[in-house]
Amino acid sequence: MPQTRHRIRTPRRTSAFVGITALALAVSATASGGMAGRPHSAAGPVAASNESAVAPCRITGTMGVQMSEGMPTPPGYSRSTGEVRALNLMIDFPDAKGEGTALDRLAEFFPQTSDWFRTSSYGRLTYHPEAPVRTWLRMPMPFAAYGIDRGSAYEPGYRQLVEHIVKAADSEVDFSRYDLVNILVTPNAGPSALDTVLSVTFSGNAEAPVADGVPLANTSFVYSRQDDGSGAYRETGYRVLPHENGHVFGLPDLYTSDGGATVGHWDIMSEDWGANNDLLGWHKWKLGWLDSSQISCATKSGTSDHVLSPLAVGTGVKLAFVPLSERSGYALEVRTQAGNDEAVCKPGVLVYKVDSGVDTGMGPVTVSDSTNSSGGCTRRANVHAELSDAPFRPGETFTDEAAGISISVVGELRNGSYQVRITRP
Ligand SMILES: [Zn+2]
Repeated sequence: MPQTRHRIRTPRRTSAFVGITALALAVSATASGGMAGRPHSAAGPVAASNESAVAPCRITGTMGVQMSEGMPTPPGYSRSTGEVRALNLMIDFPDAKGEGTALDRLAEFFPQTSDWFRTSSYGRLTYHPEAPVRTWLRMPMPFAAYGIDRGSAYEPGYRQLVEHIVKAADSEVDFSRYDLVNILVTPNAGPSALDTVLSVTFSGNAEAPVADGVPLANTSFVYSRQDDGSGAYRETGYRVLPHENGHVFGLPDLYTSDGGATVGHWDIMSEDWGANNDLLGWHKWKLGWLDSSQISCATKSGTSDHVLSPLAVGTGVKLAFVPLSERSGYALEVRTQAGNDEAVCKPGVLVYKVDSGVDTGMGPVTVSDSTNSSGGCTRRANVHAELSDAPFRPGETFTDEAAGISISVVGELRNGSYQVRITRP
């Protein structure tokens, strides 16, 4: 049996939970069978001509870490580039009958989720949401009978629920056609997301129930509504789904028991409530949305200069990486208010440490704050304030004295790119 572990976030604000419970099941050593009649390729970077130059920056996974920042992402997760087909099933229960139509529930997440992925991936992921069953699928047992709570393991409740979903849908659905599954639960089943976030993803789970010859290995469950009462639900409520699907593609949770204090609003795997935000450049490389020609790998000892164009812009070098070891290093990227980044109040060079030896929810990424204890530059709801002014501006320098590393922002060029100077042993 795959081992189960889970992370449960703790509230940082009185009004809303800002994160999502994630359960990651261990990935079995063998890849699961092909889905949708084509090879079930693992998520991973696109090859490019300077592959060997960036090899030292491609930090690898670590034994014993279930969902890591390492590359490549192990087999068993959904593909994250090209045409990705998502099966959406809307379910309700005898004691929580769907309010409104099932298609209304679907419309809370689409087309925004597909648009979000197209923007974040620069068009490298084309997300096809399909809903072959147009009505609520009624489960045979009351919601409470499944024993689903925050942090519930896959066994036994989720296995039973998935078996019931397969039984209810199988006559109308060919499960082998899809890369991932979204279960959109009627919002009146279970607690409000303001009190308890139940939404969860089981990914890389080759031992999930099988339908049409394939295990439902990568399945996201979305409950309730992430409505903080600010009136922004229609714009931002869908964002739980790109977060949950991030797990399906192999990304770990970046929030910790301290909420968003390590990465703030700089990645949707850290905060998925509030204003729209993007993924870190590291995640985009891991998912295959940046190719190696867009990575500047700082291996040379001494001083080197690097020019980075804003992450939201499709072309150019996006990410500089300073490897410290085979499992960690510093990443640098330019973040501006553009693309999926809606709440950037201090554009500049974001510096963060990536450690593939740290598991999901334990802080595998740590953002360096250029202005410690400033209180930040945003007052937007559900955006971590302290790290909102973390980027480094021209003239500002990040140093790691123990590692002998300094990273200085030399200046901003006329085309919006930034020149960065890295000094390393
Ligand atoms: Zn999560």
